[in-house]
Amino acid sequence: MDWSDQEGGVNLEAAEFETLAVRAGQRRTVEMENSEPMFLTSSFVFENAAQAAARFAGDEPGNIYSRFTNPTVRTFEQRLAALEGGERSVATASGMSAILSTFMALLSAGDHVVSSRSIFGTTNVLYEKYLKKFGVETSFVTLSDINSWRSAIKANTKILFLETPSNPLCEVADIRQLADLAHDHGCLLVVDNCYCTPALQRPLSLGADLVVHSATKYLDGQGRCIGGAVVGNGDPIMEVYGFLRTAGPTMSAFNAWVFLKGLETLKLRMDAHSTSALEVATWLCELEGIDRVYYSGLPDHPQHEVAVKQQDGFGGVLSLEVVGDREAAWRFIDATQMFSITANLGDAKTTITHPATTTHGRLSAEEKQAAGIKDNLIRISVGLESVKDIKKDLQRGVNAALQRS
Ligand SMILES: *Cc1c(COP(=O)(O)O)cnc(C)c1O
Repeated sequence: MDWSDQEGGVNLEAAEFETLAVRAGQRRTVEMENSEPMFLTSSFVFENAAQAAARFAGDEPGNIYSRFTNPTVRTFEQRLAALEGGERSVATASGMSAILSTFMALLSAGDHVVSSRSIFGTTNVLYEKYLKKFGVETSFVTLSDINSWRSAIKANTKILFLETPSNPLCEVADIRQLADLAHDHGCLLVVDNCYCTPALQRPLSLGADLVVHSATKYLDGQGRCIGGAVVGNGDPIMEVYGFLRTAGPTMSAFNAWVFLKGLETLKLRMDAHSTSALEVATWLCELEGIDRVYYSGLPDHPQHEVAVKQQDGFGGVLSLEVVGDREAAWRFIDATQMFSITANLGDAKTTITHPATTTHGRLSAEEKQAAGIKDNLIRISVGLESVKDIKKDLQRGVNAALQRS
């Protein structure tokens, strides 16, 4: 695939990640703008009726209508595809519409999906409430246990779906191993790469068939827009594009422009998030009042070796169990002064949340227990503030949990 700027003549074929993040997909207009333009237009004009016919017939490339061809959205798609190492990307209105588009494009009634149990809560609702309605069944397995994946595969299984590292317990799956398993059974492996982003992990290079993103998180990185994307090669990604063209869960040009600017600083931000989160996690392990810390960068994390092998960093999200119960966890959260109490993650601002009563609040007590979501669990998405100030806020939280002043 050629990511060169065709009109500008910049050859990016052998370019490094950081360069692609800033340059890939850009095509200058006759105005010769330096930054990428935002094309706020719903439709495009043809020179004559014959050209319109050729565009609609697919005989001539070019813009038609912004539901499926917008130059700003395309620049974002090409840049993200370059970063993930895929042929093509399809931008969507949200992370959930990226996941929905993937399933709608590639599954039929009677098909079966195997998914990791620790998955974004709304993805779970999609399986249980909507896919089921159209005759698609899902089996849930333990993310890091290859045998549980193997034994869940049936003759009608079409997709293996996972997030790694998982939310909120930072469990890690071996993507290469799961890709081999999927392909041995004629299935596709789909990886939600929201936590690591291509700056830290490129699932396609490890054998995955499709990558899905909530661009809302780290691709934006500054908490401004909702968006998503699917990236891949060949027929599967073309099927996803066909669904988007038909059903229209399209990313707006404005949001695409914001995400493009996010991609330019992605590597710098992910490295900073990872460095700070590792420092915070290591510090928390020694802190009185903390029972347990979940972070794949810690040497005693059960899948630390896999994380080292397949990731270029451990990301910005960590979880901790505070000594005590739900009340202690809430005292902890309420005593922090700088952190944002919000379920979002992947922001420049550190966010703090109580999974058992927010993101995982819909699970029954048994489901929470099976998923390892305890009442004293707190999730932190470590932001770009000074680590010194982040630790100060955590110390306030611990003091309140222990009812010390
Ligand atoms: C947030 C999130 C999603 C959903 O993305 P939206 O942009 O909120 O629709 C999917 N997967 C993961 C891992 C997420 O964190």
